[in-house]
Amino acid sequence: MNVFGVTGWKNAGKTGLMERLVAEITARGFTVSTVKHAHHAFDVDQKGRDSYRHRAAGAHEVMLASGKRVAQMTELRETPEPKLAELLARLSQVDLVLIEGYKREAHPKIEAFRQEAGHALIAPGDASIRAVAADVALELDRPVFDLDDTGAIADFILREVGLLVRPAPEATGLRPPPLKNDCFALPPGVNWTPVDEALAELKERLRVVVGQEELPLADAAGRVLAEDLVAKRSNPPLPNTAVDGYGFSGGVPEGEAQFPLIDGRAAAGIPYQGRVPEGAAIRVLTGAALPDGVDTVVLEEDCAIGPDQIAFHGPIKQGANTRKAGEDVAEGEVALPKGRVLTPADLALASAIGFGQLNVFQPLRVGVLSTGDELVEPGEPAGPGQIFDANRPMLLSAIARFGYEAVDLGRVKDDRDGLRAQLDAAAERVDVILTSGGASAGDEDHVSALLRESGALAEWRIALKPGRPLALGVWNGVPVFGLPGNPVAAFVCTLIFARPSCSKMAGAGWVEPQGFDLPAAFNKRKKPGRREFLRARMRNGRAEVFKSEGSGRVSGLSWAEGLVELGDEGREIEEGDLVRFYPYGGFGL
Ligand code: AMP
Ligand code: MG
Repeated sequence: MNVFGVTGWKNAGKTGLMERLVAEITARGFTVSTVKHAHHAFDVDQKGRDSYRHRAAGAHEVMLASGKRVAQMTELRETPEPKLAELLARLSQVDLVLIEGYKREAHPKIEAFRQEAGHALIAPGDASIRAVAADVALELDRPVFDLDDTGAIADFILREVGLLVRPAPEATGLRPPPLKNDCFALPPGVNWTPVDEALAELKERLRVVVGQEELPLADAAGRVLAEDLVAKRSNPPLPNTAVDGYGFSGGVPEGEAQFPLIDGRAAAGIPYQGRVPEGAAIRVLTGAALPDGVDTVVLEEDCAIGPDQIAFHGPIKQGANTRKAGEDVAEGEVALPKGRVLTPADLALASAIGFGQLNVFQPLRVGVLSTGDELVEPGEPAGPGQIFDANRPMLLSAIARFGYEAVDLGRVKDDRDGLRAQLDAAAERVDVILTSGGASAGDEDHVSALLRESGALAEWRIALKPGRPLALGVWNGVPVFGLPGNPVAAFVCTLIFARPSCSKMAGAGWVEPQGFDLPAAFNKRKKPGRREFLRARMRNGRAEVFKSEGSGRVSGLSWAEGLVELGDEGREIEEGDLVRFYPYGGFGL
């Protein structure tokens, strides 16, 4: 059992110190018993009580018990006083026994000392005294505490008996920094990379990594054009009519007009073969090529129509209700630029200007790998210390939404060889690898360690909340984004860094998120020196933010419909101030 004594002369403050120590140490969660050596005539019993009468009658031991406490009195009579060791053996097991008195026993002790009591210190002649608790400053070869500094004295005693392994600050020389309690604070001495700098570097360094292929037009939506699309033909190819009506030559002044009708008509795809004489009109239908001799059309709804002629009110300007050849796109014009992510409308345009096949980039294959001993597959049985892999389903679906081929690379333990093998295999199958977890500089941060080994690492600590560690490397020629493990940080880093990077590698060029300014529905004091993204959504035209900024709060990501971006500078945001809001759609989701 752990034993420590409080010793000292009379009036040195022993009992007060004992009392404070018992209170302090039990308050820290330890169990404490005490032993006190007393004057030989002490008695806890009282004359006339039942227990007293039992004793007086000659009982060897008297045990007194109630629902609250139990007392056991042993009458020594002629037997000698038991040794301290024997007494200790009678106590039930506790973390610490504090002993008051027993000056001459060899157990370790602290000496209580009060100047005004007028005694000399015992400590100098007694090696069992490990420290002194005094009400004055003393020069001694042992630690001296202020008699009232109970916390420090308790620390000392607990440390001496092995109940406190935390070393005394003075023993290590290690001085802690002021407490910030902000895991996103930027500690001095680390080279923090501002978000814009990291983005500029990625933009500058990354190259297109995918090959090209020809695809039928109908299969090309979502793909990236690999070359400028130069119109093979004008749209429209010929001048034509925009309405159903009657075509003739020249404009018509204000007032009533009559035109004789000629036989025949022009319809879309069925042109009129002859020439319409000057002063005559011909029936024309929407989309029909204008016959020779026709440059102006009047709507049929504006005409009175007889068997051989039409009448209507001017004025009608020359060229009215017609479309000029190439007015939409002229032959030879670049209709769509290389790098364009093809939309359904683009396919209409490509078709209109003569394309049946398109030269596009092959889809970027983006592998997603989770790392961590603690991870289990969603829905599988999980032990108490395990967590479900939340990042992989999130990142795989985000990649698919960005328009890339998402490749599930599974999970890997925090094991360097396993991770190495997984990266080797992945580099054969994909163009980019996104990992999550193990990206900072800890013992189990094997992603950053391996990328560092591979030599091509930019181990960025980004001045970003949430985010921070982002390990970038190249593994067997394949770029790797080592994202943070926290789902919120992994998601934000994916939107901010991985998405534009993938876009560049896929041939679509760097993309900026699309957002707009909204009045804040919140108050916040933001620290300078780092960018912050808050989970947010728009309600009643204002930006609301999630109630917690905790990076593990997956529910907040799901609650949110976008992110509020707060710039690198410090800022005091009050309700109604404008903040930049990016809906998730502005990140291509
Ligand atoms: P790490 O970056 O590996 O230190 O992980 C940071 C935190 O994110 C830890 O609490 C991890 O348990 C958690 N974490 C890592 N990977 C995942 C994941 N795939 N899904 C959910 N939480 C994760
Ligand atoms: Mg981990």
